[in-house]
Amino acid sequence: MTVPLNIAELELTEVEDALEGRGCERFHARQLYRWMYKRGVTDFGRMTDLSKDLRVRLGREFTIATPAVTSDQRSSDGTRKFVLEFADKRCIEAVFIPDTPSMTFCISTQVGCAMGCGFCLTGKMGLVRNLTAGEIGGQVRVLAAATEMLDHPFNIVLMGMGEPLHNYDNTMKALRILHEEYGLAVSPRRVTLSTVGIVPGLKRLAHEPLMPNLAISLHATTEEQRTALVPPNRKYPLAEILETCRHFPLKRRSRITFEYVMLSGVNDTPEDARRLARLLTGIKAKVNLIPLNPAPGIPFERPSDDRVDRFAQILADRYLTVSVRKSRGQDIRAACGQLIVEGGTKKSAAQQMALLMR
Ligand code: SAH
Ligand code: SF4
Repeated sequence: MTVPLNIAELELTEVEDALEGRGCERFHARQLYRWMYKRGVTDFGRMTDLSKDLRVRLGREFTIATPAVTSDQRSSDGTRKFVLEFADKRCIEAVFIPDTPSMTFCISTQVGCAMGCGFCLTGKMGLVRNLTAGEIGGQVRVLAAATEMLDHPFNIVLMGMGEPLHNYDNTMKALRILHEEYGLAVSPRRVTLSTVGIVPGLKRLAHEPLMPNLAISLHATTEEQRTALVPPNRKYPLAEILETCRHFPLKRRSRITFEYVMLSGVNDTPEDARRLARLLTGIKAKVNLIPLNPAPGIPFERPSDDRVDRFAQILADRYLTVSVRKSRGQDIRAACGQLIVEGGTKKSAAQQMALLMR
C-alpha cells in the first residue's frame, strides 16, 4: 500500500503536480487550498464542491496532517497560549496576541532550540527537532481557525520556540505556503522573522523573493558580553552581523528591528545604551527593548521601569526609534522566552520547574 501524500507539506504548484500525476485535474488544488486555509476544513468528505468520487479518492491517496490543540489557555489580557501536538507526540507552543495594534500569531519553528541563550527557557530545552514546513504553516492554520481569524488580516512573528534561520528551508517554505493567494494570502510585509543572526542564513534571506521583516536579537554591545549571553556569537560575531545588516536590502521606509532583552545590572547601563546607539549608526534601525520576563532557572533579573526608561531615552536622544515591549500573557507563561515544553512532550508546571532546577 502506498503512503498517503500529506498536502499540508505542499505548495500549491506541488499539489497541482500531485493531482495531475494521479490523473486528476490541476484546478482542484485551488479548491483544496481554499478548504484547508480559508475555511479550516481538513476532512475531504466535507469539501462539498468536489465530486463524491473525487472526495473518496482524495481520502485514499492524500492526508492533511494538522497539529492537535492539547491546551488553550487564556490570559487576563486576551493573549491565548496554545500547546499543539504533532503526529509524533512532540509539542510546541504558539501564541495569539490580540490588538498589538493588529492581531498577531507568534509561532514556533523548532521543538526546542540549539542556541542556548542564557535568559531563555526554550534554550534550556536544547534542540529536539526541526518543524516541517507543514507543521510551521499548520500552526497558523489551526490558530486562525481557533480564534476565528481566517477572514481577517493578521501578523505573524516567528518568535516562538526555535531559531528560524537554523531551520531555514522549512521556514521559508512555510512562508511560501502561507503566501498562496488561494490560501491565507499572508503578505511577507505582515511577517517578522526574529533571529540571533546566523550570518549565512541572513545572506540567503537577502535574496529571498518573499522577504519577511527582519528582527535581530542583539542583547549586548560588546563581543565578550554577547558571547556570554548568546553563545552563537562565538561563530557569528556582533561585528559580522551588523556588517551584514548594513548591506541588507530593505524596502523603502522599512527598517531592521534590533531586539534587546534587558537584564538588570548586566546590559542595562547608560554606557550600554550609548554603545548600542553607536553600533547602529548608519543602519536603518529601530530598537525594541524587552525587559526580561523572569522565570525559575533563569539567573537574571528584570530591571526597574525607571532604568528601562532611562536606557530608552538615551537611544531616543540619538535619533533612534525605540519601543518597549509590553509583556503579554505572563500569567499563563506565554510571554517571550517563556515557551517551554520539556523534551517536546507535555509536562506539568511542577515537572517543568523540577527539570529547570536540576
Ligand atoms: N530564536 C529567535 C526567535 C525566538 S525568541 C530569536 O532569539 O530571535 C524571540 C524573542 O524573545 C527574542 O528576541 C528573545 O531574545 C526573546 N526572549 C527570550 N527569552 C526571553 C526572556 N526570558 N524574557 C524576554 N525576552 C526573551
Ligand atoms: Fe533560541 Fe531565541 Fe531562545 Fe536564543 S532566545 S535560545 S535563539 S529561542
